[in-house]
Amino acid sequence: MSSGGFASQNGAGGSYTNGPSQNPVGVYPSNQSFMAPPLPGYMNSLPTKGPPPAGPSCYSGNRHQPSPVGTPGALPASPSHRMGPPQASATPPPPSSYSQHPQQPSSWSGVTPAPAGNHVSPAPYASGTSTPPVFQNTMQPPAALQHAPPALNVMAPHQPYGPPPAFGPPAAMRGTPPPPVPPPTAVPPPPLAPHSEAGLYLAQPAQMNRPTGSSYPSLQPAYHSPPAPAPQQQQHYPQPSVSAAQLSPSLAAMSLQSQPPEALRVVNLLQERSLLPAGAVTPPAPCLPQDLQKLNCSPEVFRCTLTSIPQTQSLLNKAKLPLGLLLHPFKDLSQLPVVTSSNIVRCRSCRTYINPFVSFVDARRWKCNLCHRVNDVPEEFMYNPVSRSYGAPHKRPEVQNATIEFIAPSEYMLRPPQPAVYLFVLDVSHNAVETGYLDVVCQSLLDNLDSLPGDTRTKIGFITFDSTIHFYNLQEGLSQPQMLIVSDIDDVFLPTPDSLLVNLNECRELVQDLLASLPQMFSRTMETQSGLGPALQAAFKLLSPTGGRMSVFQTQLPTVGIGALKPREEPNQRAPAKDVQNLSPATDFYKKLALDCSGHHVAVDLFLLSAQYCDLSSLGCISRYSAGSVYFYPSYHKQHNPSQTERFQKDLKRYLTRKIGFEAVMRIRCTKGLSMHTFHGNFFVRSTDLLSLANVNPDAGFAVQMSIEENLLDLQVVSFQAALLYTSSKGERRIRVHTLCLPVVNSLSDIFAGADVQAITALLASMAVDRSVTASLGDARDALINAAIDTLASYRSSVLSVQQPGLLAPACLRLFPLYILALLKHKAFRTSAGTRLDERVFAMCQLKCQPLAYLMLMVHPSLYRVDNLSDEGALNVSDRTIPQPRALQLSVEKLNRDAAFLMDCGTVMYLWIGRNCNPVFLTQVLGVDSYAAVPLNMNQLPELDTAESSRIRALIDWLRERRPFHPVLHIIRDESPLKADFMQNMIEDLSESALSYYEFLLHLQQQICK
Ligand SMILES: [Zn+2]
Repeated sequence: MSSGGFASQNGAGGSYTNGPSQNPVGVYPSNQSFMAPPLPGYMNSLPTKGPPPAGPSCYSGNRHQPSPVGTPGALPASPSHRMGPPQASATPPPPSSYSQHPQQPSSWSGVTPAPAGNHVSPAPYASGTSTPPVFQNTMQPPAALQHAPPALNVMAPHQPYGPPPAFGPPAAMRGTPPPPVPPPTAVPPPPLAPHSEAGLYLAQPAQMNRPTGSSYPSLQPAYHSPPAPAPQQQQHYPQPSVSAAQLSPSLAAMSLQSQPPEALRVVNLLQERSLLPAGAVTPPAPCLPQDLQKLNCSPEVFRCTLTSIPQTQSLLNKAKLPLGLLLHPFKDLSQLPVVTSSNIVRCRSCRTYINPFVSFVDARRWKCNLCHRVNDVPEEFMYNPVSRSYGAPHKRPEVQNATIEFIAPSEYMLRPPQPAVYLFVLDVSHNAVETGYLDVVCQSLLDNLDSLPGDTRTKIGFITFDSTIHFYNLQEGLSQPQMLIVSDIDDVFLPTPDSLLVNLNECRELVQDLLASLPQMFSRTMETQSGLGPALQAAFKLLSPTGGRMSVFQTQLPTVGIGALKPREEPNQRAPAKDVQNLSPATDFYKKLALDCSGHHVAVDLFLLSAQYCDLSSLGCISRYSAGSVYFYPSYHKQHNPSQTERFQKDLKRYLTRKIGFEAVMRIRCTKGLSMHTFHGNFFVRSTDLLSLANVNPDAGFAVQMSIEENLLDLQVVSFQAALLYTSSKGERRIRVHTLCLPVVNSLSDIFAGADVQAITALLASMAVDRSVTASLGDARDALINAAIDTLASYRSSVLSVQQPGLLAPACLRLFPLYILALLKHKAFRTSAGTRLDERVFAMCQLKCQPLAYLMLMVHPSLYRVDNLSDEGALNVSDRTIPQPRALQLSVEKLNRDAAFLMDCGTVMYLWIGRNCNPVFLTQVLGVDSYAAVPLNMNQLPELDTAESSRIRALIDWLRERRPFHPVLHIIRDESPLKADFMQNMIEDLSESALSYYEFLLHLQQQICK
């Protein structure tokens, strides 16, 4: 690291804005580092830039219509007002108060008579439907069951069919038959517990009959006085249990005092070198009563940088920690409760979906946990389809699961849900054909044609392009596909608009014919030009009437027509001292087209396969603003680079077969007082909290920064809710809702104790990407370093009561400086020579879009010794034994010439073989008899019938299964060309252009003690 890298310290960095190339949510000046709060009122100065209204095809709130996911402030008088008049005539409510989905035998389709221990059907669709399980395309291993969000396992095994629980409804209600429901007068309001301050009780799980007199002194109204045992609690209904509104503000502090606060254990980083835990770094659990925490959203789906929310912005400013949420909203889940209901219960004021963290004022009214409005419980919500009992709305699945999916009724649609539509746009210039990628794409499509998500309405189409654009007429009845060439790329038109996108079922043979012949059709082409821009315009014209997914394959810089680009990477720019030019787009053509696409529910996914500079910072805009994905295969060549080909093939299979949601919008809400500003990820921001996602895929992550606009003084907990409304590939309108609940605290030590170091790192990484583009790479690097300095300085001055020498951090943040250093050495932000501009830009894209778990591996790889794997402490997953070696520090000093090490960097793995590696390992695992015999370009482990071979292959397979993309394995030794890449990940070591970890710590200490 050059000394200049630290030039401007402590807030001398440039302003942090959501700059011109970012999604324009709000632009506010800040002369400090990342943590400066936005100016008050910035929410009102939102630019109104946006895609043109999509007319009747648009689901969401153009023209300020209440959107389907709801608009705060809208107060619809009835459900039919939510979306304006529905296009399809609304189905009258069925006579039964609890409607059934036409295909569902049971109203709550996720619930089938389940074996003990499994209350939720593993298949989200109930039996009796012809619809295959939602997660047919998941690559999740069976082991994923073990990682199922705890929130989905909240109901007792037999509870749905058992008698009412001991503390359930009063005797008067127990005999109440299921619907048809009795008139309301038949159900007397339940008596309120006399000692329940506000008469509140929280929606509680079946386990609400936990022992009273538990460890929460705040249960009692007079929480400031010694808690009295409350045996009388058992005599009343509803049982006053831990209500969100009743927790003591100091609950977190109290529970911390009662246990040794490991999170706050003081660590002197200069002395304690072994900071990595033996296993994975686990997210901190919010300091909530067990009952609430049990219901909370899985951290794999929804995480906050601070698991204890500061009461005020000034407290947050003091902590110098960033506040934000990280989401993986469409993640493949092994279990997902699905509810069909004609009336989805939402707050009438802020449109929040009813969730486990609302409180029931009485059996007929619930209080919103976001805006605090008291709402009526609709009559049909009184019936619980799980237990088939009446009168316990707090036991409904909606109030028992922090992650749940609804099949939406017609008021959530303005037009019939669109079919699955897939359009492939393929570069067939000489350069493209030469790489051989076309064979892989066509073969992969042929292999997976039956696995494309969709139904009988699925449509497909193809466009190829070089300097001209080629369409393919695939209409039923033709004897073979017809190629139609449009050479006027300045004014692109569709030659036969009705026969270019065809029904896959009806025209399957023609599609197969085309895929079989495409690679040969251009094999002799001498055409070197690329008219990508006009091809994209043509593709947009083709897709805009329906919406859908556009998959674009490009192998070179676009050279002709609109959107043509010029090389901007000078060879000498690959070794910048501090700043990198050309991180922002050269033209706004791709962004503008992306916004048009977004407005018509078209997402563009870009596959870039190139050895040359392609200007990803310009091209990437097409995916970024249309909610697409970007894939990058530098130096792709089918023959010369087999490992890239392997990765491309595996990625394509996942891409073609993974779940997809069309015409989606996501709204993120939070408790009044908190406000969201800058969003990160691929989408278009339609209004303050509404993200437009033309497509949503299960591998996309999002982040959002927050500030505290009004003090949260009266609140003990706050909640966050993400609602994703989408059309499934089977044409159903669905809403997936995630709700996260976190405690509010009023002391700095509590804030620090709840810090989630990985979430903080990921959010800072996204912020630094923005800063690199809007200001400079140097500014972004300074801001990252300042984040570490400011946080540790605040901890030292405001939390530590006894001053000690050294660089001190609370245990929960002990990895923070290491992660910051890892970011500084990451391809996105490093200053060392040899980083190609496109590779840097792609690394930045990944930091903004990868879900947290995968992102952390890319930032801080895992290193394991693997020549001595044993079954000790191994996992057992589906009869496979998976060794669990300890993660090692990323330092050459951990390597040993007598051993072999596996480094897992997320998208790539290295197996490094030491020069004197045990010969047993060489023969039993690699199948060679000496070190010198290890091939220089080895990418596969042979399947040898030895225990050593099985163990290491089991470990690598298991690591691969746990992510949606395919990491390539490189087996390397000292002479291998990739050894330098491997060594570059030794983050703790000194390198040519960057400090060692120890030097970095000394630098931080020096700045803090200044
Ligand atoms: Zn509300």
